[in-house]
Amino acid sequence: MAVRGPPSRLGGSALFADYPFLAGAEALLGREPPSVRELLADPAYEHARMIGRARILAAQDDPRGAKDVEELERARDDERYLSFLFARLVLSAAPGAGALRRWAVAEAKRAHGRLKSVPDVDLEEVAARLGVSLSVEGGHASIPVAEYLRLATPIREAEFRLAAQELGGGRVSVPAERASRLLEEAVRAALAVPLPLAPEVIRTIRDGQAELLEEVARHLPAPVARRGGPAGPLRPERFPPCIRRMQRTLEHGENLLHAGRFCLAAFLHRAGASVETIVDAYRGAPDFDESVTRYQVEHITLRDGGRGYEPPTCDTLRSHGLCARDGDPEAPAPQDRARDPLCFEPTLRHPLQYYRIRGGTVAVERDPAATPAGAPGTSDAPGRPPSAGRR
Ligand code: SF4
Repeated sequence: MAVRGPPSRLGGSALFADYPFLAGAEALLGREPPSVRELLADPAYEHARMIGRARILAAQDDPRGAKDVEELERARDDERYLSFLFARLVLSAAPGAGALRRWAVAEAKRAHGRLKSVPDVDLEEVAARLGVSLSVEGGHASIPVAEYLRLATPIREAEFRLAAQELGGGRVSVPAERASRLLEEAVRAALAVPLPLAPEVIRTIRDGQAELLEEVARHLPAPVARRGGPAGPLRPERFPPCIRRMQRTLEHGENLLHAGRFCLAAFLHRAGASVETIVDAYRGAPDFDESVTRYQVEHITLRDGGRGYEPPTCDTLRSHGLCARDGDPEAPAPQDRARDPLCFEPTLRHPLQYYRIRGGTVAVERDPAATPAGAPGTSDAPGRPPSAGRR
């Protein structure tokens, strides 16, 4: 049987150290696990706690899991496991679910980075320990349709749509690399659920780890403090032609230029759309990744105390070929096919100005000083990782 990568490491402790969320990983300790109190306060576990804190903070900094936790690579296997336990415990006791969710994404992505190149037999073993029925042979994985749907539904990348899969005998067949992405989703979903802690344990953790939890809270996106008046209802039918065309491009599963992705997020934010609504606008993108998109949308919208980045002007959009004032002959709606006279008014300089003239409400007024250097060529366009390459 052909296998990918090096021979299996099964039987060794490295598997559990790399995937500490797997059933059976406590075997790394070779002894009784410490009590919650010991793990939280006993000096014997200080090093594990230090690595656990690094795991937590790296995830809050960058939930794409791209930030290395150097201490983790140098730690003993049992310390790596305990650091994972510590992080999970602390975040399960954190007020609100945001920090735990960000950490779950980062841990799942770190696991995915490893799973992409493990031998078939290890991929199968990890899946089984996650409770996923997956058989892998010759670099191809087979998974029951229901299981596939459960794991693939939150992944919006076009290649994961059921219609694009090879089906047979009630199972879906996918390349092993794609199966590793499904397992990433299984890990994320499992870790995003808080541990069932008793109220007194939660109190103990919150008291003992108050400093860490405060730091975590500082990393979380703050509630948006809008300036410039309350948002009116979002009126997509009054959006300018350029923005409507960007939306159509994504809805049709086509690629939108980097500058267009940035513009759409910045415009929707200024028009009063919530982060959820903005993230939803990218779901059709061929390389959509929810966690990465959410991270980038938050980065764009939370800048400057919630004012967000300035959307590009008409001149800038024209220079990127994103102006649509001449009409889009392929648009399904007749009004999108025609030339828009308002866009030819000499005083029309900005897509938000267009929206306001047409009766839309701009929640946060323009502030030229907020225009970022180099925008919209910023690397923060949502829908795909900025520079780490596409998934
Ligand atoms: S003129 Fe401005 S608002 Fe109108 S389509 Fe072009 S970029 Fe958009």
